[in-house]
Amino acid sequence: MKLPIEGGCDCRAVRYRLTRPPLVVNCCHCRWCQRETGASFALNAVIESACLELTAGEPVLVLTPSQSGYGQQIARCPSCHVALWSHYSTAGPATCVVRVGTLDNPDDFPPQAHVFVASRQPWVQLSPDVPQFEAYYELAQIWSAESLARRRAIQPQIDAWQATRQRMAPPAPPR
Ligand SMILES: [Zn+2]
Ligand SMILES: [Zn+2]
Repeated sequence: MKLPIEGGCDCRAVRYRLTRPPLVVNCCHCRWCQRETGASFALNAVIESACLELTAGEPVLVLTPSQSGYGQQIARCPSCHVALWSHYSTAGPATCVVRVGTLDNPDDFPPQAHVFVASRQPWVQLSPDVPQFEAYYELAQIWSAESLARRRAIQPQIDAWQATRQRMAPPAPPR
């Protein structure tokens, strides 16, 4: 994997780079990701926000309902509106959950885990070599020791976020 890792939107108004490899790459089969992508799953690379640098443009953050009720902020290009990454409610602004398809070399980032496979679309065939979880996993099951250490380093930021986060009103619909 060559650093930095670069990506951007369709119109190239927003460009970004990752200065470290992602903490983890998850393939999420939940219904929310299916709706948000209009496809069958989302392929997400999680990274500390401090390791994502903008090199062109500035995305707009769109607050979008989520199963948690807290919503997620989706960073979209202000002109072509392609979604580049999200701040999920668990870690808030401490991490960026980058949409792998917006990386210039998405083939370099296959999933390390399939999550929420309970709602996997039945035609999607998964490799038995990649761990699958009905819902989510304990981080230590999948994340490398280095990634767990990097996660511990941002835990204070995550704790501060969780102490102040607000539920969206009106609440998100169930499921
Ligand atoms: Zn764009
Ligand atoms: Zn999902």
